[in-house]
Amino acid sequence: MKDKIWLSSPHMSGNEIKYINSAFEENWVAPLGPNVNGLEDDLTQFLGQNVHIAALSSGTAALHLALIQCGVKRGDFVICQSLTFSASANPIAYLGAQPVFIDSELDTWNMCPEALNKALKDLNSLNNVPKAIIVVHLYGMPAKMDEIMKIAKEYDIPIIEDAAESLGSSYKKRYTSTIGDFGILSFNGNKIITTSGGGALVCKRKEDKDMAVFLSTQARDEAPHYQHSKVGYNYRMSNISAGIGRGQMEVLKDRIFARRENNLFYKNLFKSSNGISLLCEPNEDYFSNHWLTAIKIDENITGFNREDLRSLLLSFNIESRPIWKPMHMQPVFIDCKYYGNDTAEKLFKNGLCLPSGSNLSENDKNRIAETIKFILN
Ligand SMILES: *Cc1c(COP(=O)(O)O)cnc(C)c1O
Repeated sequence: MKDKIWLSSPHMSGNEIKYINSAFEENWVAPLGPNVNGLEDDLTQFLGQNVHIAALSSGTAALHLALIQCGVKRGDFVICQSLTFSASANPIAYLGAQPVFIDSELDTWNMCPEALNKALKDLNSLNNVPKAIIVVHLYGMPAKMDEIMKIAKEYDIPIIEDAAESLGSSYKKRYTSTIGDFGILSFNGNKIITTSGGGALVCKRKEDKDMAVFLSTQARDEAPHYQHSKVGYNYRMSNISAGIGRGQMEVLKDRIFARRENNLFYKNLFKSSNGISLLCEPNEDYFSNHWLTAIKIDENITGFNREDLRSLLLSFNIESRPIWKPMHMQPVFIDCKYYGNDTAEKLFKNGLCLPSGSNLSENDKNRIAETIKFILN
């Protein structure tokens, strides 16, 4: 059997170890230290839009803190894109709040502004105006932020951008995570860069970053003894993980370039295949890091479905994955409100993510191309 080709696997620069060694040399083996501050500075330099960033233990933790800072409490409603990974919605449940899921549109596969509008009208008429809106930039593709922000503004609801998959993507020349009131990033092992596990909260105001750091380090009040007036969390990033992140930030631009090259490779591969379409930037307003290349298969035209292709790839030891199963279809969230039609459901049924790692070799791409050509013919 040939080596496994992964959907998206960690891709080190080689310099990570330098930062880890310095952590050991200086004995900063703790959830604070120079690498944590250094990674925050690197990210701030990259995003460069007057943002304030807190490095945290995961993207999920960042979302949890963002919701707390938006004032979400037990029984509140929070809007969330349905087509996403469960980590977008779980923190709503941690707070005892109620997710309200919104369908996708077909241009970006992200939150449909019309369905959002309908939901807010409806919730407003029930006196249940949501406390926050979580919009996701799926697979790196920015959502329709202008439309979404305009609707949110009418009801004065803060927007949290789940940019876990979209570091380096931009909408109208603004990086995702810096457009809404808060943004969250993830550095899990499969993301565009990794810290082995980690995340960050991107804030507009320094007070918000300071609050995130305070909450993420057990909410210790100023005192020589341990004094607490708020519930705290253990969510700060480790100085070792942050060292990996610093080495990864050195090559972030290369990683984005490589992912976009992968996307071009697939565009070429499918250019004359009827019934297969890629998730594409709708126009010049959108710049995607193309974290994962995703396709939609119309079985009536191709004669095969996403499971046929996925199984075939797997038989050649090539990993691919169905598009996220929408949250409103998940048993854990089955009783939650949902606004929309069947767009997200259809994308789940017909969509597949193809191997997209920045470390795919020419040889890997040839293997993928041969296998896919086999089913196309
Ligand atoms: C990965 C991911 C997260 C969670 O990030 P972690 O760092 O794994 O906690 C949240 N939302 C989306 C859309 C993701 O893909």
